[in-house]
Amino acid sequence: MKRIVIKVGSSVLTETTNIAEERMLHLVSLITEARKKYEVILVSSGAVAAGYTAVKLNRSIPTSKKVLASVGQSVLMSSYKNMFDIYGVTISQILLTEEDFDSRVHTRIFQDIIERTLKHDILPIVNENDISTTPDQLFGDNDQLSAHVTYHTNADILIILSDIDGYYDSNPKDNPKAKIRKFVTEIKDEELDQKHTPNSQFATGGIVTKLKAAQFLMDKNRDMFLCNGYDLTSAREFLIEGVHNKGTLFTNKQEKKDKK
Ligand code: ADP
Repeated sequence: MKRIVIKVGSSVLTETTNIAEERMLHLVSLITEARKKYEVILVSSGAVAAGYTAVKLNRSIPTSKKVLASVGQSVLMSSYKNMFDIYGVTISQILLTEEDFDSRVHTRIFQDIIERTLKHDILPIVNENDISTTPDQLFGDNDQLSAHVTYHTNADILIILSDIDGYYDSNPKDNPKAKIRKFVTEIKDEELDQKHTPNSQFATGGIVTKLKAAQFLMDKNRDMFLCNGYDLTSAREFLIEGVHNKGTLFTNKQEKKDKK
């Protein structure tokens, strides 16, 4: 069975003052469907934003942000639990830092846990543990964390569900004429050097961290698919029906591009 990692961003999961229940339910339903075809690992952002739904602390103060994350992680997980219960899917929470990948011993522990979790048909939900850590122990964004999870668990592809339909030839929020790129086989240095442009106050990555994640995976012969997480049509087509209509596939495998 193929193994996939699905990463979902904060903006998809939360509205300004609430968990975006309907979007989350659609995601949960798609993941449940995908689990019939693939082994699935979910990387979920959204703890800080979920925390903010409960307490209005100032997220620009580092300690307050950690408190928001600690409140929000359980808000997030209880929402996931309620929704996955509908489908009888058991979930687990795995909190990681960059240090979990810094040595073979650490990486092995993580790999063993994931293998055992999947073997027992449990859906692992991974997030960055930004509560008791210093900034240099963190990736700082779940795009790169999820790329590491993909590589180290030997998954075939990372699916990133964002607030945008894919990767455009320029930022579509600034340029209405921007065109979506269906395939990317090479990322230029100047694309990776752009300034960060996260779209919402709780988003940390922007497009650059997604490109870095894609580069990391392409270097290691893995693929990444970036598509919309608000409307899951393209994700469903790609994952369940095997059709690539919208969304950007980052791949260094020319034959995949030719085939589509
Ligand atoms: P998420 O919370 O899903 O990780 P982000 O807000 O971090 O999402 O990143 C996606 C945002 O990146 C888009 O909404 C868009 O504003 C911005 N962006 C900048 N340049 C591009 C580009 N060339 N193609 C697509 N998105 C871009």
